[in-house]
Amino acid sequence: MIMRLLGKDGATLFEREYYSTGGGFFQWKGNPAPARGKPLRPFGSMAEFKRLAQESNKSLHEIILENEKAIMNVREEEVLAHLDLVLKTMEDGVTEGLAEEGLLPAPFEFYRKAKRIYECSKNANVADGFMQQISSYALAGSEGNAAGRLGITAPTLGSAGTMPALVYVMKHHLKLSQDAMRKGLLAAGRVGFICKNNASVAGAEVGCQGEIGVASSMAAAMISYATGASLEVTELAATIALEHHLGMSCDPVGGLVLIPCIERNAFGAIKAYNAYLLATSEIASQHWEDLDRVIMAMHETGIAMPTMFKEMGTGGLGVTMVDC
Ligand code: SF4
Repeated sequence: MIMRLLGKDGATLFEREYYSTGGGFFQWKGNPAPARGKPLRPFGSMAEFKRLAQESNKSLHEIILENEKAIMNVREEEVLAHLDLVLKTMEDGVTEGLAEEGLLPAPFEFYRKAKRIYECSKNANVADGFMQQISSYALAGSEGNAAGRLGITAPTLGSAGTMPALVYVMKHHLKLSQDAMRKGLLAAGRVGFICKNNASVAGAEVGCQGEIGVASSMAAAMISYATGASLEVTELAATIALEHHLGMSCDPVGGLVLIPCIERNAFGAIKAYNAYLLATSEIASQHWEDLDRVIMAMHETGIAMPTMFKEMGTGGLGVTMVDC
């Protein structure tokens, strides 16, 4: 993206060329990549992480916190303050989204629906109401992204409604403490990193399984760990959520992050919650799949997926739903 500052006469006064390098990061031409430190306890996969946790006798959040401090070269308070900012931004995005209605900025008529679904939930039975509420939170966050509001890439902006929905549930339904939510966020970040390190979180590379699938997996890990699940159960929740997004293509209508993206966040959030329920109810050691193997399957599926189903807007809903 090239941004230009124009004078009154239309002449360019200043110009800068920006590059999206994926996963929410960007750089601009002529600017060297920011210096980063090395993680104190490096790991590349879930298997390595589990070994590390066992050898160091440290908990999940302690390891990630130590790594963050080393990579960013900051004090623990600064990492915690950043986690709080992320949690607050996600929560605020949902709150604002639940209050908005009407059209979203789009070249075709596309209405917000988060508020309406939230209102409907008040008259529904408990089970239906809760499902509608989780969906409305995810829709609210995602509609905010479509409207250009501040969003958190978790792992991308297309999937920026899934994690906030579960943050909202943790805070307003489960009434978890700030400390528990921070720990959950660290667990989510670890899942996102492992997915990115061994596969991808870009729809253009592996389809929507890498965006909504990974977001759902992160959210499942977050709520599990925040509610006190063990490392094993937290991994299981992430595994279940990702596994049931395998093969999902990226086929946005008109190449815009609207259809099917916004609703997909609602489904990603519901699946995350269900993965949390399954993982915390079953016997983790009896479960067949593990996260590394599911990520491997996502990568293989993504590579084999035809390019027209990877963020091109030239396949699937991208062509069958075109507004002529
Ligand atoms: S369909 Fe594509 S653009 Fe939309 S959320 Fe999924 S990966 Fe992102």
